[in-house]
Amino acid sequence: MEIKVNPAAPESRKAKPSDEAKLGFGKFFTDHMFTMTYSAKTGWDYAEIGPYRPLCLDPTAMCLHYGQEIFEGMKAYRGKSGEIYLFRPQENIRRMNNSATRLCMPTVDPEVFQEAVTELVLLEKDWIPHGRGTSLYIRPTMIATEAALGVHPSSEYLFFIIVGPVGAYYQEGFNPTKIYVSEEYVRSVRGGTGNCKNAGNYAASLYASQIAMGMGYTQVLWLDAIEKKYVEEVGTSNIFFLIGDELVTPPLEGTILPGVTRDSVIQIARHLGRTVSERRISMDEILRAVEAGTLREVFASGTAAVVSPVGQFYYQGKEHLVNDGKTGALTKQLYEEILSIQCGEQEDPFGWRIKISD
Ligand SMILES: *Cc1c(COP(=O)(O)O)cnc(C)c1O
Repeated sequence: MEIKVNPAAPESRKAKPSDEAKLGFGKFFTDHMFTMTYSAKTGWDYAEIGPYRPLCLDPTAMCLHYGQEIFEGMKAYRGKSGEIYLFRPQENIRRMNNSATRLCMPTVDPEVFQEAVTELVLLEKDWIPHGRGTSLYIRPTMIATEAALGVHPSSEYLFFIIVGPVGAYYQEGFNPTKIYVSEEYVRSVRGGTGNCKNAGNYAASLYASQIAMGMGYTQVLWLDAIEKKYVEEVGTSNIFFLIGDELVTPPLEGTILPGVTRDSVIQIARHLGRTVSERRISMDEILRAVEAGTLREVFASGTAAVVSPVGQFYYQGKEHLVNDGKTGALTKQLYEEILSIQCGEQEDPFGWRIKISD
């Protein structure tokens, strides 16, 4: 499929943010976006990179009523000599297509998808910030656009990709977060959509997050919906526990998001000679490890921060410290390893990096 390019008029282009230290996350978007439309009759068509602009939707557009909306989050990184990399893009593409299938939405040809990401990033390459740990965030999204009420899969869709510069997560070094274990509200249940990046999951998570934040915590630690016993994930990240010499993360049983960072952490940790287990881990086991002094590190993993140390958690009315509230050595090491592969500073033994420009 050919991607038509319709450049934004020079006078409509935005000023690029001048201070990389103030980029933050999700605040700036570039001058162009990729769009492609689907109809049940003709399939995907009209692939185009055009000016970044508001969408025009009928008030009955089905995404607004029944939640057929899925998205992805990935990044493009700038290397030391200006070269540009994507990190495991096919993993995000495969995951988006899995989300699409689960939500009765059409899949996108993986090659067309990667081509669209690449062309858009290259067109906007001057927007990619330079500082270590900064990147161009890429947000592919699909929404149901058929104008009709009545619960059924939409016959029309819009797929779009927007990109924007994001800052380094750790400007003043790691700051371990405080997390709140939610015993009342759950994020997902087996058989549900917890392993998809669909909008509804995030809407459903807000209430518990608000409670956690009101109590001074940054994130919610989700437990399994049935026994409220096993750890699932934290906020919108996967979670890891270093207990003794075993690095433990919950298994992929349909209720948690199969994070690309999660998989990268597992592979790198094993490469570094660590024992990694994907197995169920209960709050009881974690409390026992705290008592025994064997809970050494806890961290979350996700595209936004790579890894994010947890310094404290709140469960059943009590606060528990992890590693005296400090960032652990393995957490730091994994962050460095992954970031330096992403931005081309070291060998890429796994073949994860894709160079899209010299
Ligand atoms: C996106 C996301 C993750 C992390 O996935 P990555 O591919 O590592 O960015 C974890 N949990 C949830 C709920 C998410 O939405």
